[in-house]
Amino acid sequence: MPDEAQPTASLPSLRSPELTGSALPGPALTDLTLARAEVDRSAHLRTDEAWLAAAWADRRTRVLVVEHGRVLCDMGRELARLAFVSAESAPDGARFLLGIDHEGIVYFGVAGPLPEAPRETVRAVPLREAGPLLSDRDAGLMTHAVALGNWHETFTHCPRCGSPTDPILSGHARKCPVDGSEHFPRVDPAMIVLVTDHSDRCLLARNALWPERRVSVLAGFVEAGESAEQAVTREVREETGITVGSVTYLGSQPWPMPQSLMLGFRAEAVGDTEIQVDADEIAEARWYSRDDLQVAVESGDLRLPPPVSIAHRIIESWYGGPLPGSW
Ligand SMILES: [Zn+2]
Repeated sequence: MPDEAQPTASLPSLRSPELTGSALPGPALTDLTLARAEVDRSAHLRTDEAWLAAAWADRRTRVLVVEHGRVLCDMGRELARLAFVSAESAPDGARFLLGIDHEGIVYFGVAGPLPEAPRETVRAVPLREAGPLLSDRDAGLMTHAVALGNWHETFTHCPRCGSPTDPILSGHARKCPVDGSEHFPRVDPAMIVLVTDHSDRCLLARNALWPERRVSVLAGFVEAGESAEQAVTREVREETGITVGSVTYLGSQPWPMPQSLMLGFRAEAVGDTEIQVDADEIAEARWYSRDDLQVAVESGDLRLPPPVSIAHRIIESWYGGPLPGSW
């Protein structure tokens, strides 16, 4: 779950009428902040060693260095920009092909120590901070690079025999030189769901680990051997005692912090809608009408997750208009 404080936007007093409504399924979520991309991943070139060597030697090639989930960004303008380095000045580290843009420029990532910032406005930032401020091209490149960087930093050894593994497929897999086994980036699917009751009120909860007033929709990891829809039903029941009927998929967003993929859903409560929280996980939970939510958010009684999160976008899709995120 996202937990970084974000700048607070002003809350519009009017919701856009065409978006307000209770009809299910809600509009599919599009333009999620970290689900944007412009660069072609060019997977077919990942095994073409001659092409990869030529691309690395091309002076136009740009390299994004990633270390512990951070990259260098120029934050000096309204739209932040990734600060690339040339291939020859890139540090040693696991190298991965990020793709080719529409101008034919090739992008690589390297998991290694961040270079020195070339200007005062350039600094090392995490995805949560930079993501909302980047163009589609840069948001996609950074999300891809951070996900692979996190994996290369962590999964360095063979799970079968313990030997150090080597990157293959231009950094999109690793191979054990001893037993030949191949290993692919780990992605943990997690579901996140906005539950509504018979009056189209939505269920918001505060995780037991969160400070007062911070709430979101319910979320949890999909377990082994379980579908995402089953995870929705199970988590909602475990955490709040509510049984849900129809479960509708809304969209997904990578959340490589370090390695999740968030699958967004809406679900309708059936039967008894009295909430019984699992106190180990959930400190409090209740149903909110749109007016309840507007009043609570405007007064500061509730703080919603930041706009970079799919949670925020799911809540807005139900509410029918923009809401401030203030974690
Ligand atoms: Zn091995």
